[in-house]
Amino acid sequence: MAAPRIVIENCAIATVDGHDTEYASGHVVVAGNRIESVGAGKAPENLEQVVRRVDGTGHLATPGLINTHHHFYQWITRGLAQDANLFDWLVTLYPVWARIDEPMVYAAAQGSLAMMVRGGVTTAMDHHYVFPRGAGDLLGAEIRAAQEIGVRFTATRGSMDRGRSDGGLPPDFAVETTEAALIATEAAIDTYHDPSFDSMLHIAAAPCSPFSVSTELLREAAVLARRKGVRLHTHGSETVEEEKFCHELFGMGPTDYFESTGWLGEDVWMAHCVHMNDSDIAAFARTGTGVAHCPSSNARLAAGIARVPDMLAAGVPVGLGVDGTASNESGELHTELRNALLINRLGAHREKALNARQALRLGTYGGARVLGRQDQIGSLEPGKLADLVLWKLDGIGHSSIADPVAALVFGAAAPVALSLINGKPVVEDNRLTTVDEDAIARGTRHEAQRLARIVAAD
Ligand code: ZN
Repeated sequence: MAAPRIVIENCAIATVDGHDTEYASGHVVVAGNRIESVGAGKAPENLEQVVRRVDGTGHLATPGLINTHHHFYQWITRGLAQDANLFDWLVTLYPVWARIDEPMVYAAAQGSLAMMVRGGVTTAMDHHYVFPRGAGDLLGAEIRAAQEIGVRFTATRGSMDRGRSDGGLPPDFAVETTEAALIATEAAIDTYHDPSFDSMLHIAAAPCSPFSVSTELLREAAVLARRKGVRLHTHGSETVEEEKFCHELFGMGPTDYFESTGWLGEDVWMAHCVHMNDSDIAAFARTGTGVAHCPSSNARLAAGIARVPDMLAAGVPVGLGVDGTASNESGELHTELRNALLINRLGAHREKALNARQALRLGTYGGARVLGRQDQIGSLEPGKLADLVLWKLDGIGHSSIADPVAALVFGAAAPVALSLINGKPVVEDNRLTTVDEDAIARGTRHEAQRLARIVAAD
């Protein structure tokens, strides 16, 4: 028997396939959790098992947005250290983050995920690297929140083992031992990683950064990830201060240091990559190392402008990242689509830096490639998983812009009329269907206030 079908018709479609195929008025047919057909005009007639027919007039269908870098727990520490660079911001926040526990991380994950999913994200990612002793099952709490909302998820088991007494930036009380970090990372992979085509949950290994992780942990995490067949993620080349740190401690820049520890390759992606010279970009391109471009966070922490046009020209895989919401309080991916476009035009390539379609590609197919899932998600093509968003563009914010992709990327965040993840509706008429947004808003406020009280009493 055929799988139940959802038919979406009469909408503009940006497929983000290899030819950037677009339809001014077309259809998408979803069968079960797969895309069955995409094309111009009406859907084929005589389809069986059609359980729902959506009139997409005035709307644009795109692949669901894919986020490639985040720190969910920061949802309850937003709006702090408002005028600091990365290192000063981290030093201010480490003692706050050292007091998080499982209920806080669960609420923060709910808040982070709800905000992203209601804004069109269909694949989320999290980089969690703060594991205070006795805080509970923090990774498990995030995974529970993602499963409840119904979002596709790449969770990473992060880690820090280079405290201040070892020349690192974090205080010693905020780090784990190298051995504990590796054991927990392996356990997370064994417990949760699902490598199947339809997978809703990937695990990756993610030591935090060169200035908070030992060389041994970097090397051993790479060996572990390759033995287990999972991906590797970290922060790289984010600020001038990090570059200086690497030269002082290792006698080389961040990219050369990563290469020396086994950290360049098709199975690696790094957040930020702002301070990259021509040879760094060439090394990423040669090895297939991916980049999570986080334009809002890079601006918030005065890190700089990543050379995205040069990376794309060299063939580096690039996706978009919200980054943690302590350095990007908006917490949703449309802002990154728009800021990727606008901020890169402030750099060397000016108006030729990125166009609206390239920005949409970064937020969809580019993200899929960075997460190693380009065969399954990231474009609207038959056989791929049914992760798609129907954006309402006939309202006050967008109706006077003729080009739907320009309306989506240059314009204000468009309402999500419908979002399907794995073929299931998760957003209808701009509201989440799987969880109670208002209850999540109350819960995150409660946990943020509880954390603030604990910190104030320290
Ligand atoms: Zn980050």
